[in-house]
Amino acid sequence: MACDICGKTGTPLSDLREIYQTDEIKVMCPDCEKVVNKQLRSIQSMTGRLQRALLQRFMGERKERITK
Ligand SMILES: [Zn+2]
Repeated sequence: MACDICGKTGTPLSDLREIYQTDEIKVMCPDCEKVVNKQLRSIQSMTGRLQRALLQRFMGERKERITK
């Protein structure tokens, strides 16, 4: 078996969480896992900020509608 991302063989492989798997990428080596996890944290931080901003905007708009 080889890492589905870099193709390295003779390395331990971790199963990617099912929700992140694609048809071509299901397992990866520790090096790829490290990089992918770092990217995931970065994306989660970005989408977290976006989620807060969108919800706050929604609440503000709802307040406007109701109180005017
Ligand atoms: Zn790899």
